[in-house]
Amino acid sequence: MQKITKPDWIPENAGNEFTTSIMAGVQDIEHKTKPRTLTKHLSVDDYVKGILDGNITILSKAITLIESNASRHYNLAQEVLKIVLPNTGKAIRIGVTGSPGAGKSTLIESLGLKLIKSKLKVAVLAIDPSSTITHGSILGDKTRMESLSQEKSAFIRPSPSSGTLGGVTRKTRETMLLCEAAGYDVILIETVGVGQSEITVRSMVDFFILLLLPEAGDELQGIKKGVVELADLLVVNKAEGTNKMRAELTQRAYSNALSMLQPATKGWSPKVLTCSAVEGTGIWDIWSVVNEFREITATSGIFKERRQKQLLDWMDSMLRDELQRLFFDNHIIKNKYQSYKESVLKGTMTPSQSVFDLLDLFKKTK
Ligand code: GDP
Repeated sequence: MQKITKPDWIPENAGNEFTTSIMAGVQDIEHKTKPRTLTKHLSVDDYVKGILDGNITILSKAITLIESNASRHYNLAQEVLKIVLPNTGKAIRIGVTGSPGAGKSTLIESLGLKLIKSKLKVAVLAIDPSSTITHGSILGDKTRMESLSQEKSAFIRPSPSSGTLGGVTRKTRETMLLCEAAGYDVILIETVGVGQSEITVRSMVDFFILLLLPEAGDELQGIKKGVVELADLLVVNKAEGTNKMRAELTQRAYSNALSMLQPATKGWSPKVLTCSAVEGTGIWDIWSVVNEFREITATSGIFKERRQKQLLDWMDSMLRDELQRLFFDNHIIKNKYQSYKESVLKGTMTPSQSVFDLLDLFKKTK
């Protein structure tokens, strides 16, 4: 339907007393019709070659396949991954977490730009727990890392925008592998320090950084023990000007607290640094610690051991997710599940009885 509008000489608030109207011109219609373009479907070989050549457009397309929920795309992506797998694993994988506003993206940009200057290729990925629940986004929507995103040696990909955390985890892990195959030396994975997502990121990185803000006193207000225990390095950001002293007090308080906690990585005592992401001070110290960590854990074998454990954990958690999906998507189970729940609530069946009956039904549907 063409839109009918009033000519511009009719007063704005005029009613039906002006009966004249005009139709959109032919020019306009042509303009709105998009020219038909034939999008070329890439073959597995095209994807593999493009990724190994470091072609950003093809890398992005391959990641879109990974993020797609269509099985056709999933299968294609898996074929590509299988071929590029021997070219993965060479990057250092670093997780960065911290509350919103702690300065994660500013720090990643600052560190990323420095790494690029020293001829490294940097990929930044994100896991945003809010996107899996509300499709909203704490991390993705802000215009972030503007200078870094303009660098040829940087690749920035926001969090997959939907799915369960399990699904997002798989997608991010596979995206990380593709980036490694495309020659990125450093993979930075950003997440917000809320809930489950830090544990998820910890399960896929070699080194984990917790970004903190200077606190009011040298007594820590409710130290976030769970997250602190995951970290290999704590960094108190915004340590400049009048904040510098407070940042150093916070640094000391966390150093003391750490001595009482279990280290996240065997054979490595977590460190606490201060930095100013905005001024760019203390950023190289972070990178030095990363390198020190890499050396120590490579020599002790912990680096490789962790990666192998992560692979097996990935396999196990995916297997569990898939089994669960198969079970609950099964049409017979779908029919019975509700009535079994009602029987359990009425007390005519015990929970164990219902579980074993449902599993029996499931096995019979094979
Ligand atoms: P994120 O939510 O953790 O990613 O935090 P952002 O990187 O978006 O930073 C939140 C705010 O803190 C922004 O206004 C930044 O400009 C500011 N910020 C980040 N790093 C520093 C810093 O080192 N010093 C100061 N003063 N402000 C900073």
